[in-house]
Amino acid sequence: MGAITDKTKCIGCGRCMDVCPGNLIRKNTEGKAYLKNEEDCWSCASCIKECPVGAIFLRLPAEFGGVRADMHAKTDNNITEWEIDRADGKKIVFITDTNEANKY
Ligand code: SF4
Ligand code: SF4
Repeated sequence: MGAITDKTKCIGCGRCMDVCPGNLIRKNTEGKAYLKNEEDCWSCASCIKECPVGAIFLRLPAEFGGVRADMHAKTDNNITEWEIDRADGKKIVFITDTNEANKY
């Protein structure tokens, strides 16, 4: 399962549309983002890193996150804080730094 938009949070900025490598995201008549073809999303996470209000997230495969685990991201310059919210109420948080991406 790939990216999911939350239309109650979306402010219609279009940043997710600009970064999607598959050009999969559109706006509906209310200016809210949605995925044109959900089955084409390959979960690259570019859109969720770019969204300024957390209105788009990835539902992880059950093998990875358990039942209904949703991954959100907050990015500030090169730092991204990833949060996985699980259906059982547990949260997993980890940080990535793009400056470190090619370090190893
Ligand atoms: S996860 Fe990647 S491929 Fe899927 S909608 Fe977002 S940017 Fe596009
Ligand atoms: S980046 Fe977020 S707020 Fe902006 S259009 Fe996409 S989902 Fe909506």
